[in-house]
Amino acid sequence: MKPPRFDYLAPSSLDEALGLLDQHRDQAKVLAGGQSLVPLLNFRLARPAYLVDLNEIDGLDEIRMDRGDLVIGAMARQRDVETSSLVRAHCPLLAEAMPQIGHVQIRNRGTLGGSVAHADPASELPAVIAALDGDLVVTSGRGQRVLKPDAFFVSYFTTALDPTELLTSVRLPALPPRTGTAFLEMSRRHGDFALVGVAATVTIDDAGVCTRCALALTGVGPAPVVPREVATSLVGVRPTPDAITEIGQGVSAFVRPESDLHASSDYRTHLAGVLTERALVRCVERTRGAHHDGRP
Ligand SMILES: Cc1cc2nc3c(=O)[nH]c(=O)nc-3n(C[C@H](O)[C@H](O)[C@H](O)COP(=O)(O)OP(=O)(O)OC[C@H]3O[C@@H](n4cnc5c(N)ncnc54)[C@H](O)[C@@H]3O)c2cc1C
Repeated sequence: MKPPRFDYLAPSSLDEALGLLDQHRDQAKVLAGGQSLVPLLNFRLARPAYLVDLNEIDGLDEIRMDRGDLVIGAMARQRDVETSSLVRAHCPLLAEAMPQIGHVQIRNRGTLGGSVAHADPASELPAVIAALDGDLVVTSGRGQRVLKPDAFFVSYFTTALDPTELLTSVRLPALPPRTGTAFLEMSRRHGDFALVGVAATVTIDDAGVCTRCALALTGVGPAPVVPREVATSLVGVRPTPDAITEIGQGVSAFVRPESDLHASSDYRTHLAGVLTERALVRCVERTRGAHHDGRP
């Protein structure tokens, strides 16, 4: 299959790219790693008149620390995020999720921002960002706005970005000491999109009592699903096996996934509970000082 005809535009600066988006609006599509967009073009599911390639713009792929937060540019390749020592040290949850995205060849080209902006309901990164309550930095010719995940991810393949805006970076906050994190997913084969995935974080105090717990799931709704009240019910108690089982049951009761070709609603509901429980067990183990850098 070949893509429909389009004009290829390769701006060399962010300002130039934003100017082109402002000029062509919904006639234009942004090209990042092309791992989702090119198949869409080839199957004629997208027919933009202009393709605005971000690959010639310097500085959009930085991975850096800023005031304790990890900041990742939208054009950072997924493989660079996966292998970054900063990411391993400061955001092991992200480091653990990265290798579960497709195959290494896809991650070599695919970008963090492309995956987030594409907003596939089964993708890993939106759930990781939602569990960490990260900031999504959006830039247009009018300036910058910063969105939280629940405002950014709207529905299936739909975000709050308008056609003149680019996602330029993602900011992930530092987690407190004595925090353990885990990302677990179930897919039919390695490299497939997740049937269900869970991103989890647990923080405990010196007495072993949970002071913070966050969960976000992928594959069980049109956008990342955040069972906030279920997760916070662990706060103030010791994360014992019984308490964790209760959270898993609470998550199963909370989610309402749809059935599709790959899995029934009942199976996804079951998986959501089981994976939550396993992820929380890992988080608690990882709060006990064992250094965890995201490697399995
Ligand atoms: C075989 C296969 C398996 C895969 N498995 C997985 C998987 O398990 N999990 C997973 O999460 N993904 C998976 N993917 C998708 C992969 O992660 C893509 O890299 C990602 O979805 C898109 O990133 P990209 O950089 O390639 O973006 P592109 O394909 O270039 O763009 C995707 C969309 O986002 C828009 N866009 C890109 N960057 C920006 C930006 N900065 N601002 C605004 N809009 C932007 C584009 O206009 C387009 O609409 C798989 C892909 C393939 C081909």
